Amino acid sequence: MRKPIVAIIGRPNVGKSTLFNALAGERISIVKDYPGVTRDRIYADVRWLNTQFTLIDTGGIEPDTKNEMFAHMREQAEIAIETADVIIFLVDVRQGLVDADSKVADMLRRSQKPIVLVVNKVDNFHKQMPDVYEFYNLGIGDPIPISAASKLGFGEMLDEVVKHFKTTVDADEEDDRPRIAIIGRPNVGKSSIINKLLGENRVIVSDIAGTTRDAIDTTVRRNGKEYIFTDTAGLRRKSKIKEDIERYSIVRTVAAVERSDVAVLVIDASVGVTEQDAKIAGIAHERGKGIIIAVNKWDMIEKDNNTVKRYTADIQEVLSFIPYAETVFISAKTGQRLNKLFDIIEKVIQNQNLRIATGVLNQILAEATALQQPPSDKGKQLRLYYITQVAVKPPTFVIFVNDKNLMHFSYQRYIENKIREAFGFAGTSLKFLIRERK
Ligand code: GDP
Ligand code: GDP
Repeated sequence: MRKPIVAIIGRPNVGKSTLFNALAGERISIVKDYPGVTRDRIYADVRWLNTQFTLIDTGGIEPDTKNEMFAHMREQAEIAIETADVIIFLVDVRQGLVDADSKVADMLRRSQKPIVLVVNKVDNFHKQMPDVYEFYNLGIGDPIPISAASKLGFGEMLDEVVKHFKTTVDADEEDDRPRIAIIGRPNVGKSSIINKLLGENRVIVSDIAGTTRDAIDTTVRRNGKEYIFTDTAGLRRKSKIKEDIERYSIVRTVAAVERSDVAVLVIDASVGVTEQDAKIAGIAHERGKGIIIAVNKWDMIEKDNNTVKRYTADIQEVLSFIPYAETVFISAKTGQRLNKLFDIIEKVIQNQNLRIATGVLNQILAEATALQQPPSDKGKQLRLYYITQVAVKPPTFVIFVNDKNLMHFSYQRYIENKIREAFGFAGTSLKFLIRERK
């Protein structure tokens, strides 16, 4: 099941960051072996009882003049409405109900998204409850009191958030058409690719009318099969602040990738692969999605015998954390190799769903361990007893061993490579869970 997306919005200083950090806890990753964007604290994975969700903070740089503040809040709310399954609207019991809150509440009500109204800084539930009731006036439901600073009231708040997941996520799950997110920096050609695909394949208007998401989802039919493409460029907003534009583009990418089976990372051939591309690729890698690298604007490049080799080497260097990704050189302008892109998308979707029989896996494990001895430490040798596949999307394997600490990353990589040698799994990450069995 895909993870639901929850967005926190609210005026400056109501406590959005405090709440985000309290919920994200240590689960927010600081150091990774690839350039993820999690350390910017824009999004984090949160676990509550048996559910997991992706939390996003649409906050960003906050203006100090009153006029700009409302424009900023409107942007935040629009992004949240566009991307989230559930919105936490955070208000501040100390400042009380202000005009901007009411205006945002009107927008939220019209969007028909599930809204959870949360009143923060209720450090003393007994004394401050009368002030909480005032927020009923917003007309978006029961206000839930919390104190983000002292982590009070989280249970009730999260129960309310989780309650909405069923309706929002199940609707997506019922739709079994493959979903493809087109991701990448601005101006690499994301919209052009989708437009070109549309030009060559008949468009079908989405049947789920009235949701904001339709604006950025495009259905394309090919060989009698339907695919849903999401353009993360989407509706371009004229935000004045550069940091905000970047933040919103990350929020949009996270949401689109989360809802997709495969992400197509578009790179501009005229610019080459950049660190920013790596950041964006990290989002898809982290979420275990299929990844395809599409080097676009290939028509602009003067080529010789080494051009493809050179681009491939650059990509392998900058995107070294996704060696499994497939690369294709395309042109949205001329349509060159867009058919091949489609073939690769189809192949990656199949690989994401591939299940390998346990017998075959154990045969590979036995051969691998015979060929290269498992590592040992202080006289104790790693033993690998058994391997089995427990999930797809991404394919996930459990390996039973005698001692987890002896399983080095390099040996796990070796086993992974043996599995890839046998079955390919091109375009998809593989996940390994190491369990001890005495
Ligand atoms: P943001 O601008 O909405 O992200 O707000 P911050 O998370 O930066 O918080 C603004 C201020 O409110 C900070 O000084 C926090 O320490 C304070 N704050 C946040 N949550 C609480 C709370 O539950 N109780 C109290 N008393 N202060 C809080
Ligand atoms: P997005 O911001 O990633 O959606 O990028 P756009 O699709 O808006 O494209 C940005 C610019 O690049 C536009 O001027 C396009 O015409 C141009 N462009 C897109 N794809 C190609 C391509 O394959 N070849 C050439 N020469 N230009 C392209």
